Amino acid sequence: MNKLLPVASVGSLPKPSWLAKPEVLWSPWELEGDTLVEGKQDALRIAVQEQQRRGVDIISDGEQTRQHFVTTFIEHLEGVDFENRETVRIRDRYDASVPTVIGAVSRKQPVFVDDAKFLRSQTDQPIKWALPGPMTMIDTLSDRHYKSREKLAWEFATILNQEAKELEAAGVDIIQFDEPAFNVFFDDVADWGVAALERAAEGLRAETVVHICYGYGIKANNDWKATLGAEWRQYEKTFPLIQKSSIDIVSLESHHSHVPTDLVELIRGKKVMLGAIDVASEQIETPEEVADTLRKALQFVDADKLIASTNCGMAPLPRDVAYGKLSALSAGAALLRAELGEQA
Ligand SMILES: [Zn+2]
Repeated sequence: MNKLLPVASVGSLPKPSWLAKPEVLWSPWELEGDTLVEGKQDALRIAVQEQQRRGVDIISDGEQTRQHFVTTFIEHLEGVDFENRETVRIRDRYDASVPTVIGAVSRKQPVFVDDAKFLRSQTDQPIKWALPGPMTMIDTLSDRHYKSREKLAWEFATILNQEAKELEAAGVDIIQFDEPAFNVFFDDVADWGVAALERAAEGLRAETVVHICYGYGIKANNDWKATLGAEWRQYEKTFPLIQKSSIDIVSLESHHSHVPTDLVELIRGKKVMLGAIDVASEQIETPEEVADTLRKALQFVDADKLIASTNCGMAPLPRDVAYGKLSALSAGAALLRAELGEQA
C-alpha cells in the first residue's frame, strides 16, 4: 500500500447485540446452527462497511466470527480436551478455566480460512487477519502431554504456519500474530518465543505483524497496569530481538499508555503499527490527539513505515464508541498526512 500513514485497527470490534451480548468479552452466541453462521457473516459485513465508512485502509474481520482470540483457534485442534478444563493463571495476572492438552496437537482442518475468504469477497482493500501467537496460546492452556512450554510452542508454531499459508492463499495480505505474552515472559521470549514466532511466519509472502500489548481494558489488566510504575519499559526487552527477526511489522501501544515513545527506535527498520487510540477508555480521542501521538513517533520511525492503529482490540467497548474511535483515528492520520504533504 502506497498511501502514507495507512489506518488499521488491531483487530476485534464490538459485535451486534443480536449476535452476542454486547460489552462483554468472550460472551456466548445469541444464535445457533445455520442462523449463527448467517449472523456471523452479516456481522462481518457490517464490520467491513463500518471500517470503510470510517476511513480504515487495512480492513480486518473485527473478529466477528470468534468468541475468543486464542481459544476459538485452539478449539479446532486435535489433542486438546475442552471438557476437561483446569484453572490456570493467565499471563501471571488472572485465573481462567482453560482446556487441557492431552495428546499430540494437530490441525484437523482449516480454522479461519472460510471466514477469510468471505472477508476477501467483501472488499478490494488490503485485508489483515489475526492469529494467536504460539506463546500466548500455551499461556491459555493446561498441558499434560508435552510438559514443556517450548516444545508445545513449537508444535503450535507449525500448526499456525499451516493456517497462515492457507489464509495467504485465500487472499489475506497481512497476517498478524497476537503475542501479549511477550510483555510478561521475557526469558522465554529470548530463549524460544521469537524463534517460535518466526517459525509460525516462515515462508509467507504476506506481510507479518506481531501485536504486543497490555491487554484489553478489563479490570485484571487495569490492576496489573497500575503496578507497572510511571514508565512501562517492557518493550525494551523484546524489541531488540524482534528488530533482528523476520517479522515485518510491530503493533504496539502508545496513546495514554506509559510506554516511552523513544522505545520505538529499538525496532528501527520495521514497519510500526502505533496505537494512537486508548481502548481502555470510552472517551473518544480528538483527531488532534491522534495526530499528536503519531507525530511524536515520527522521531523514531520513518513516515513511510508508520501505520496508524489502536492500542489493542475494541471488542468490549460500546459499538458507537469503538466506531467513533475509528473515525477519530482516520481523521488524526489525515491531519498528519496533510502536514507531511506540506513539508514535502
Ligand atoms: Zn492487544
